[in-house]
Amino acid sequence: MVTNLASRLMSRWIFEETAVKARAFSYFRATTIDQALDAHARAGDDARFIAGGQSLVPALSLRLQAPRLLIDITHIEELRGVRREGSHLRIGALTRHCEMLSEPLVAEFAPLLHAAAPYVAHPAIRNRGTFGGSVALADPASEFPAMTLALDAEIEIAGSAGRRRVKADDFFVDLFETALQPGELIIAIHVPMFRADQRFAFDELARRRGDYALVGCGMLATYAGERIDDIRISFFSVGNTPTRVKAAEAALIGGSLDAVRIAAAQAALERDLAPPDSEDVPSAMRLHLARVLLGRLLGRLGEGA
Ligand SMILES: Cc1cc2nc3c(=O)[nH]c(=O)nc-3n(C[C@H](O)[C@H](O)[C@H](O)COP(=O)(O)OP(=O)(O)OC[C@H]3O[C@@H](n4cnc5c(N)ncnc54)[C@H](O)[C@@H]3O)c2cc1C
Repeated sequence: MVTNLASRLMSRWIFEETAVKARAFSYFRATTIDQALDAHARAGDDARFIAGGQSLVPALSLRLQAPRLLIDITHIEELRGVRREGSHLRIGALTRHCEMLSEPLVAEFAPLLHAAAPYVAHPAIRNRGTFGGSVALADPASEFPAMTLALDAEIEIAGSAGRRRVKADDFFVDLFETALQPGELIIAIHVPMFRADQRFAFDELARRRGDYALVGCGMLATYAGERIDDIRISFFSVGNTPTRVKAAEAALIGGSLDAVRIAAAQAALERDLAPPDSEDVPSAMRLHLARVLLGRLLGRLGEGA
């Protein structure tokens, strides 16, 4: 079933008289990556990193999680900042959702993230929530994890065994399950910089602005003249993980965008997506919405988005 933490939390807040008080925990403020990793290694499964706290704190309050140690990573300098590194933009894990809107480097070189940011929750949550926290949590209804797939991003991870990079394609494993091993920390997300021969588009369908999307999608296309040389299309709120639609991508590569190709890509979604039934959104309806959204976004690409 498509699920997301916030909606489950909200429904519990509204409909149940649950005690909203976290179990007692210890708190450690790390100022270096090594300190954070060491503290986690010593506490084992009973520790959690906390960044913006926008998902973790409600989960603690409702005792969906009850770690004995919280390791505050917000004072680790190395996790901050957005900067150019060769052909990539390095976006520190602590970059807040609101900075995706205000940071000029993101607007210029990762415009898909800039376009997605206003759809993430509400201003109060965007002021605290972090890019790294969102990617680590891997809510299948979240905007940013899906956009790391569309952007062919790499997630830089630190753990007791050293550092490694994992492609977004390999990072999202299952519902709230990622390639992160226990005690590993996301340091940064590396995004290939947007180029003049590329176009992007993003949108989502939600009942109300600020709600999690019923279906959402972002795409990045590389052009040779009017021909699409490459395209990466990623959906969210369609299953257990953010999902690239490779059959639809294949229907679009090698030609210019016309009505026939767009229809072929829409038809291909049937092979790419198998949205689960949920109480209020049947599978067929979600697939229909995905087709509508794909058609809309490809139309915008064709207009030069
Ligand atoms: C009412 C409400 C509505 C929301 N709506 C949306 C929405 O529309 N779209 C959306 O995308 N999100 C939404 N969110 C979630 C929000 O975006 C969170 O900020 C985000 O999911 C988590 O980021 P954080 O920094 O707050 O992480 P935290 O809550 O601090 O942590 C979340 C998890 O990630 C882990 N973690 C955090 N940082 C790291 C790191 N660097 N390395 C490894 N693990 C880490 C933590 O241990 C924890 O398990 C909503 C939240 C609420 C409460």
